[in-house]
Amino acid sequence: MHRQIDLGPFPAASGYDVARDRDAADPLSQYRDRFLNADPDIIYLDGNSLGRLPLATIEHMRSVVSDEWGRDLVGSWQKRWWSLPRDLGNVIAPLLGASPDSVIVADSTSVCLYKLALGALRERPGRSRIVTDTLNFPTDVYVLSAAAAAIGGVDVVVVDSQRGDDADEDTIVSALDQETALLSLSHVAFKSGYLYNMERLTDAAHSAGALALWDLSHSAGVIPMDLSEIDLAVGCTYKYLNGGPGSPAFLYVRPTLEMANPLRGWWGHAKPFEFDLEYESAAGVARFQTGTMPILSLAALAPALDLVAEAGIGAIRAKSIGLTSFLIDLADDVLGPLGFEIASPRNPSRRGSHVSLRHPQAWQVTQAMISEAAVIPDFREPDNIRFGLAPLYTSFSDIHTAVHRIGNLVISGRLDLYPPSRTSVT
Ligand SMILES: *Cc1c(COP(=O)(O)O)cnc(C)c1O
Repeated sequence: MHRQIDLGPFPAASGYDVARDRDAADPLSQYRDRFLNADPDIIYLDGNSLGRLPLATIEHMRSVVSDEWGRDLVGSWQKRWWSLPRDLGNVIAPLLGASPDSVIVADSTSVCLYKLALGALRERPGRSRIVTDTLNFPTDVYVLSAAAAAIGGVDVVVVDSQRGDDADEDTIVSALDQETALLSLSHVAFKSGYLYNMERLTDAAHSAGALALWDLSHSAGVIPMDLSEIDLAVGCTYKYLNGGPGSPAFLYVRPTLEMANPLRGWWGHAKPFEFDLEYESAAGVARFQTGTMPILSLAALAPALDLVAEAGIGAIRAKSIGLTSFLIDLADDVLGPLGFEIASPRNPSRRGSHVSLRHPQAWQVTQAMISEAAVIPDFREPDNIRFGLAPLYTSFSDIHTAVHRIGNLVISGRLDLYPPSRTSVT
């Protein structure tokens, strides 16, 4: 990292005392020190891509590796490991407003989505459509298409739902019909941060006789929800749940839905240690397990989930709204005159925990921010700079400093030193 120009600190910049006051009044401020902060100069605003490392995870992993693996070896399967996907699922369940024993941690989000989508299509035989929308995360659309192809005679209808930075939910509702087997959407759109009305859209799917499958990757751990009326859901644990790079996903199935796991394996067997050649499905959500789980990655989730549970999802959501609103207000004032536009919903009740800004030189701004201003956002094609505001470790002062560093960077004229796009070579 090369910090070529001195961009901070900015105590003189207007409004800094407001940011400091907000931090002083923040009931979650003490959680910042529960995460590793290896370089205090860096303002990390990419917690919706990879959450920070909780300090407790470092100690916990030392013991998992040395004691559980190193010392206890195969004995750890019965002691702790075999039930870990269900045990961790039961820690995630209350964060999602899901009932006990309705969530497991397993596989990747993409694989969990495939299992549930294929399972759902088999629950609605003869129906020929999956409905999703253009704001969905691309891998989700690939996975839905693969599930449709596996069944045959099923099309994926990708509704153009873009209406400014919101999703046009009415258009999605009107695409649901008697041919629809499944509605599948992301709860929070990965680019704009639009927060869908999950209950309303699920009700609409049910009225058409379809099932609904939600991807909670950008809402788990930051948005309170109630899954009791929701059929199916999946999500990431390495974003706001801070489980670490490639940590396994979670999968939720409504307990009253007697849907089979289309990807059978011994971990989903009722009596796995009898090694019978006949498959007999386990009861409950455990039936959606397939094969041996990545235990070290699962184990790293435990201390991270405890932090979210301890802080409380209500307090996390309140701070998230505070942070995203603060960023939008400051960006309007400081960055608006420099060519930035807000590319996220302004209504906080329809917004997740990230804010996107649009700028004609977004790629250059992003590169300059990372290499000169020590502010880490991420870039989404074609012109979005995305700021993930993780309430457990992001402060109001972080946002204030970041916005002023970005402003100074643009004013400095240094953006032109960077290639104009990801693909251009200079
Ligand atoms: C992050 C994310 C994923 C990631 O899926 P993986 O299988 O973990 O690569 C999937 N869907 C959405 C909506 C996401 O935001």
